Amino acid sequence: MRFGYSEACLAHDTGDRHPENPDRLRAIRRGLAKRHGVEYTDASPASREAVTAVHDADYVDEFETFCADGGGSWDPDTVAGEETWDAALASAGLAAWAAEAALDGKDGRQTPFALGRPPGHHAVVDDAMGFCFFNNAAVAAQRVLDTGAASRVAIFDWDVHHGNGTQDIFYDRDDVLYASVHEDGLYPATGAVSETGTGAGDGTTVNLALAAGAGDADYQYAIEEAIAPVLRRFDPDLLVVSAGFDAHRHDPISRMRVSSEGYALMADQLRTVADEVGAAVAYVLEGGYGLDTLADGVSMVHETYDGRAPVEPDESVDETTEASVETLRSAVGL
Ligand code: ZN
Repeated sequence: MRFGYSEACLAHDTGDRHPENPDRLRAIRRGLAKRHGVEYTDASPASREAVTAVHDADYVDEFETFCADGGGSWDPDTVAGEETWDAALASAGLAAWAAEAALDGKDGRQTPFALGRPPGHHAVVDDAMGFCFFNNAAVAAQRVLDTGAASRVAIFDWDVHHGNGTQDIFYDRDDVLYASVHEDGLYPATGAVSETGTGAGDGTTVNLALAAGAGDADYQYAIEEAIAPVLRRFDPDLLVVSAGFDAHRHDPISRMRVSSEGYALMADQLRTVADEVGAAVAYVLEGGYGLDTLADGVSMVHETYDGRAPVEPDESVDETTEASVETLRSAVGL
């Protein structure tokens, strides 16, 4: 894969004991150093215009001033320092680069993956939360819509948490589909199956909350039976994958049981659906807080695009997963 990476993202300082820290990117880079076919690209930071295309200008100004004044705790989880402003622009810029590169024809072994931090999917229109300041995936999607490179964008979010921010930004839009699979009951307690969009966006928000303990077979089933059909029906020009790795069985902050191989399986499934509908694919890093498992997850996605065939899980799908998927299928008219 071609990884978007910027040193500016290391300078976002969250303090000594925060799970979202620069060691995450260092661990990913160490993991990728052992792999074949890894390329890195830096990208221009996002412009203010690109950011205010999805966030309120007043919020963006407030965040800039907050960082310029030395930062601190925006909320108990969401910490900024003086360098966070530049890191956030760099992170959003990397996501926009990934979307543009994908639509420019970068696929197969050249498929782009933006390795930015801070992450983005909890950032709502007018606020930071959940370690996120700018919604990187949303900035990327809006950017390619505004430049005319795409007219329909789908965002699939496999982070273990619901991407309430991405949902918020596009909730009434018919040109952006937001679909999420997440652990039921986790932060930020949004993402119920009944949240399906509003107005013109009715039906373009798709939420599947799985019970704690779901593993590779459950995720594979969920994508096959719910997410893939929704993507086929929406027929996007671009699929952005909000790729968090915190549903991993050894991640410290979730109770899901996805293995490293599970990420290869999901990447393979999404690639297949994207090929069917002729959509470009771009990956954008979200969460993932076990350093080894984060590095392994990213490496497995990379290996999949480098030609390695994933191994099918030898577990069965849980009954609660089947029931949740059936509920979702009827909620979105499948
Ligand atoms: Zn997460």
